Amino acid sequence: MAKLLGKLEAEFEKLTGGHEAGGSGLRQTLSDTQDLKQQLRKLKAHLNKNIQEREGSPQDNKLMKKRAVIQDKVNKCYKVWDHAVKRQGKAVGLRYACFRKDALAQLKGAPLEEIYQHKIAPANRAFVDRAIGFHISRYNVGDLPLDEGANIVQYLETAYRVDRAASERLAPMGRMIHDLRRHEFDSCAAWASDHGDSVTPRLQFELFILKALQMVKVSGTTHTVKYLIDNVPQNLITYSEDSTYKDVSAALLAKMVLGHELPDIDAIIQERLQSCIRIFTHEFCAQNSLPFDSPLFLTVLSGIISLQYFIKYNQIRAASHVGWTTRDELPFDVELPDFLSHFHPIFICPVLKEETTSENPPYSLSCHHIISKKALDRLSKNGNLSFKCPYCPVHTTMIKTKRVNFVIL
Ligand SMILES: [Zn+2]
Repeated sequence: MAKLLGKLEAEFEKLTGGHEAGGSGLRQTLSDTQDLKQQLRKLKAHLNKNIQEREGSPQDNKLMKKRAVIQDKVNKCYKVWDHAVKRQGKAVGLRYACFRKDALAQLKGAPLEEIYQHKIAPANRAFVDRAIGFHISRYNVGDLPLDEGANIVQYLETAYRVDRAASERLAPMGRMIHDLRRHEFDSCAAWASDHGDSVTPRLQFELFILKALQMVKVSGTTHTVKYLIDNVPQNLITYSEDSTYKDVSAALLAKMVLGHELPDIDAIIQERLQSCIRIFTHEFCAQNSLPFDSPLFLTVLSGIISLQYFIKYNQIRAASHVGWTTRDELPFDVELPDFLSHFHPIFICPVLKEETTSENPPYSLSCHHIISKKALDRLSKNGNLSFKCPYCPVHTTMIKTKRVNFVIL
């Protein structure tokens, strides 16, 4: 397998880049294209000038000569360019055919089934597919090369075979990120105002700054100041959750209001845009009970971090002949960073302080807090009463609860 991977890598390198593989050919084509463009521009300028001067002297020899020279240059350039593009096209086709023969065909013949010994149970396959689908959607939904009005869910389904269930909830987020990247802030601002107090004021604040920066660029300071005075609500002006952030923003706003030149305004817009997209993504995921990071990413990352413990454990086990007796549980502790360790491999009912089992499974209440079946029966007097969640003020009834399945892969 290692040999095959090495070969794949080498072939891929040949396909995509490398000096000999045609990287230089592509560069040459690009420079030929630029030459042609320049000559065409000259011809256009010449023709424009000619039309203006024509009325005065219809048979100007000097002009006709000049035109012939330019036409000649354009023709030559066109030939060089046409030749280069055709040659490059052929070379790319050839390289791809080689790649298919030398790499892809071999990959298809590789005994992948024998290499992966820990097979995923068929019943869990759908969960894994959905996790992969969510992963692809979560990190790419704002970056897809979409045409105006294209359907994100459909695109992900066709291009990446992502299940609709995995992409549907993220699609509105993707649409709004697309708008933001095109400097259209209204859809995101409308979303933020629809969600009112539950969304951090920082998102709205960031949107106002972006809009103001855009206005400074297009319509000047006076308009921008008026816009800010008319539109920024009082609570945003006094908002002070993060003082460093506020200081930076205040300095920026002050410069705008005073009409100071903002050097490299496009770079500032770009930077604020990235920060705005990050905040928005956070807020959107939180509002829709979606994890900010994909569970697949977190799982794989935990696995990579754990690998060193496995290796160490293996050495100890070999030396001291101890066995691994626990099922679905590691015989050692893995230290994970905070953002990875608030997930639990087992679930302890917070009411009864007992681990849930298949006889006493976990149930989620309408507020999404989870307790065990026994605790649920007790609190609801066997389903007869509505009751308050032990962790928050929400009242719920048995009928609104849902069985929770923790998947073990
Ligand atoms: Zn609750």
